[in-house]
Amino acid sequence: MTVATEARAATLDRLINDEQARFLRLHPRSAAAWREGRRHFLYGAPSHWMRRWAGGFPICVDTALGAHVRDIDGCDYVDFCLGDTGAMCGHAPDAVTRAVTRQIERGATMMLPTENSLWVGAELSRRFGPRYWTLTTSATDANRAAIRIARMITGKSKVLVFSGCYHGGVDEAHVEIRDGRIGLRNMIHPNAVNYDAVTNVVEFNDVAAVEAALASGDVACVLTEPIMTNFGMIPVADGFHQSLRDATRRAGTVLIIDETHTLSCGPGGYTALHGLEPDILVAGKAIAGGIPAGIFGLDYATAERLWRIVPPVNPRQRQSAHLGFGGTLAGGALAVAAMRAVLQEVLTAPAYVSMIAHAERLAARARDVIGRKGLPWHATQIGARIEIMFMPNAPRNGADVIAGRQPDLETLMHAFYMNEGILITPFHGMLLTCPATSLADVDRHGDVFERFVGLVEDAGV
Ligand code: PMP
Repeated sequence: MTVATEARAATLDRLINDEQARFLRLHPRSAAAWREGRRHFLYGAPSHWMRRWAGGFPICVDTALGAHVRDIDGCDYVDFCLGDTGAMCGHAPDAVTRAVTRQIERGATMMLPTENSLWVGAELSRRFGPRYWTLTTSATDANRAAIRIARMITGKSKVLVFSGCYHGGVDEAHVEIRDGRIGLRNMIHPNAVNYDAVTNVVEFNDVAAVEAALASGDVACVLTEPIMTNFGMIPVADGFHQSLRDATRRAGTVLIIDETHTLSCGPGGYTALHGLEPDILVAGKAIAGGIPAGIFGLDYATAERLWRIVPPVNPRQRQSAHLGFGGTLAGGALAVAAMRAVLQEVLTAPAYVSMIAHAERLAARARDVIGRKGLPWHATQIGARIEIMFMPNAPRNGADVIAGRQPDLETLMHAFYMNEGILITPFHGMLLTCPATSLADVDRHGDVFERFVGLVEDAGV
């Protein structure tokens, strides 16, 4: 470290300490709740993700309505985190509340279909293209099932992913390339999985690397988001999807497109918007308005391949009925009722028009500030999703993110934002709009972003 970078790191450290002290002053009740939670929960809260907030501890939520969250200290936030996309419908949308209330009075789960499921199946095909669908309890579970099917129909073992990816608690995707070497993804701990046997990882947007990996002949599937959203936002290069599709077809490798986050691009995700042709499409999170649910859909040709191994229903052949996917509650009546409300009344085409217009406005203001101040930062906006990154240009792949990312500055931004009443995803600089996001919400972000830039400028970092 040079003297200048050491001094900068020390300044950032001091600023983060100041913001965390301010956070503690503003949130005495959340602080007490956190202390209490640590007595009961393995990592202090019901999910270990909840401890990742930069204030030093999570706020404890009182209510969440529309695009706003209120904590037990009475602080109000404009929510651009939206449950890391789980609440992309906005909090407590009326249609979902009504549907869920109605269904819970009629039974939550019976391991039987309801008439709502017929509507949902048809609507999924209308949005994402004609497919055969299965519902799961999460996107993670949908990815696991998709991988299992890919292995069943190809007889191959490996999953090829892109460095910097995240697809949930799917072991095969917990790998990355760092310093030219393949290893466990940052912050994933060794867990006795033999990753060499089950995965391969290459850089996003690198066609030659994909082709070389597929040439080994042992890749059951490529699992990818259409644009990468979990390591900053990494846009896709022109022509990459076509090359990926061609290469996977040539190699007999199943292409799984994970739309869990990119459902923010439009009613049929990035796939429908750009005419992608995945063998298996996966989504989750917002799809049932916050009731746990995921989906995966096989195109007709892939379904035929699976049916040759596990034929469609014949209840007398009990041995062929078990696919090995989890999910007793999957496709339960409650989740299906919520999904119908989301698809019919919440994530509608007009809702996307509003979400995307607000995202464009948010990104334009951020870019304007960055431009006026001559900062080496950028804002990417794709659909309803925006990413502010402290590097001059959008990354092309995970390596660019590793080289350019400034974790301390991100932590400072997160802590400052919370103190100023803005929530963004705690893992990087990602913001999302929902149907309830208003112009005033977007402008409040713009004001807070300007104040953040002022803080950083005044401190000379
Ligand atoms: N796929 C993608 C692209 C995701 O971003 C995530 C979660 N961040 C998942 C899958 C897993 O979702 P869940 O944790 O709800 O299973």
